Amino acid sequence: MLKTPWIRTLQARSMHLLKDKAFIDGQWLPAQSNKVFSVTNPATGEVIGTAPDMDQSDTQSAIEAAATAFKTWQDTTAKDRSHFLRKWYDLMVQNHENLAKIVTLEAGKPLVESRGEVTYGNSFIEFFSEEARRIHGEIIPSPTPTKKILVEKHPIGVAGLIAPWNFPHAMITRKAGAALASGCTCVIKPAEDTPFTALALMELAQQAGIPKGVLNVVTSSRENAPQIGNLLCESPLVAGISFTGSTQVGKLLYRQCSSGIKRIGLELGGNAPFIVFDSAKVGNAVKGAMASKFRNCGQTCVSSNRFLVQRQVYDSFVDQLVKEIQGLKMGNGQEAGVQVGPLINHTQFDKVSDLVKDAVSKGAKVLTGGKPATQFGELFYEPTVLTDIKENMRVYTEEVFGPIVNIFRFETEEEGLRIANSTERGLAGYFYSEDVAQIFRVARKLEVGMCGVNEGIISTAEAPFGGIKESGLGREGSHHGIDDFTYIKYICVGNL
Ligand code: NAP
Repeated sequence: MLKTPWIRTLQARSMHLLKDKAFIDGQWLPAQSNKVFSVTNPATGEVIGTAPDMDQSDTQSAIEAAATAFKTWQDTTAKDRSHFLRKWYDLMVQNHENLAKIVTLEAGKPLVESRGEVTYGNSFIEFFSEEARRIHGEIIPSPTPTKKILVEKHPIGVAGLIAPWNFPHAMITRKAGAALASGCTCVIKPAEDTPFTALALMELAQQAGIPKGVLNVVTSSRENAPQIGNLLCESPLVAGISFTGSTQVGKLLYRQCSSGIKRIGLELGGNAPFIVFDSAKVGNAVKGAMASKFRNCGQTCVSSNRFLVQRQVYDSFVDQLVKEIQGLKMGNGQEAGVQVGPLINHTQFDKVSDLVKDAVSKGAKVLTGGKPATQFGELFYEPTVLTDIKENMRVYTEEVFGPIVNIFRFETEEEGLRIANSTERGLAGYFYSEDVAQIFRVARKLEVGMCGVNEGIISTAEAPFGGIKESGLGREGSHHGIDDFTYIKYICVGNL
């Protein structure tokens, strides 16, 4: 299946984790059509393997398997579900390094980041193994002495989980951990670019003894994704959808789910402001900016997308940031010390390249970078800093999803907030300030679901992740993550 020496070593050490079949009803299966699609390493362009190119008929089998499994999985005790999840987590920890290598291979991110993603992704299974036992009901004081009001939380049923390529491990575990803890069963559709991480997770789930049909993975090419998504949204056997990806696809799924009034959780694109106020500690802001912007080569939905810097600290922030960026090491994520890898595919590469061209043609100034880094490979783009940004540039309104820093200068807090909130998106926002009153004022006024104050990295299993406006619906992670996968049943006991 796989070729390069690095891959051969990985293959020898972890053959059981590298799967070229999909996972339905506890079985490793080809597509019913027998079609496959190729998966490439974005750093080298090399084909690293093939996965089954499934379609609606395979998806129907997966949905039926999940619906059958739900009949018994929903009746397992919370304690049993907790134990299954804990076992799965322990196996993920034991296989940490090999999982990280698979992530680097197919997603292209530096190995050190893939290790971080695996730790982060594993933490959701650990967290929800604990949370499974705390999905409590309520007894509400009744206004009538002869009636008792009981409230219980029940699993919604089969959940369709659609995941993106930028966090091929964590975006699956964040959903599946909550779903399984709640008593739901799942049909998972990973992105075309990154099916192998999802399949490796299924191998570990099988080893953990999670019953057949509880977790199913349907792999497919980009071409087949719409028909699979459509069936997941419209099948009467599926109770809800949890999607992470673009706002455009999120809107489509939302519409499709309306036909069956399906439950839907949407984690969509962001356009995060990163505001540095005059009172900020500039060194901390630069550190936070680097962490927030360059993780996964900027291909993170909570990545800072627009840097707004107040007049007095503007020069100092920009100088220090450019220096840091010029020190970044680019290259193949498999090599030691690499901090910035390639973009995931040609579509992403062209988008980033076009956004820079558009900004430059409308008067943006390039302080560093600004062009492809072809010496490393076809999909590498130089970490870039653009200033003199104007409202008519695409980088002002669009999510870059790449290693591009756009910097605006502003004068007053009011102006900074106005620019920050002038977007339809509202996922994450960051700001740096040492003024306590300003901290509380701005944290309240920023129109986002998640706010980093003097902090550039905010995601953790314990905290609710999600957006407002067109960035999505619902929350993942934390005890709120259970809500998308449970419904509330009110039971009235009368004639007491
Ligand atoms: P995307 O095109 O929306 O793809 C995401 C997933 O949806 C992939 O599995 C994709 O499969 C699948 N898909 C595509 N079209 C579909 C359809 N019509 N029906 C059902 N499924 C469909 O997004 P992307 O380009 O991979 O990711 C980039 C975007 O995702 C960015 O805007 C980013 O901000 C957002 N994102 C958000 C979060 C968050 O938590 N809020 C996290 C990561 C990414 P294929 O790969 O096979 O096309």
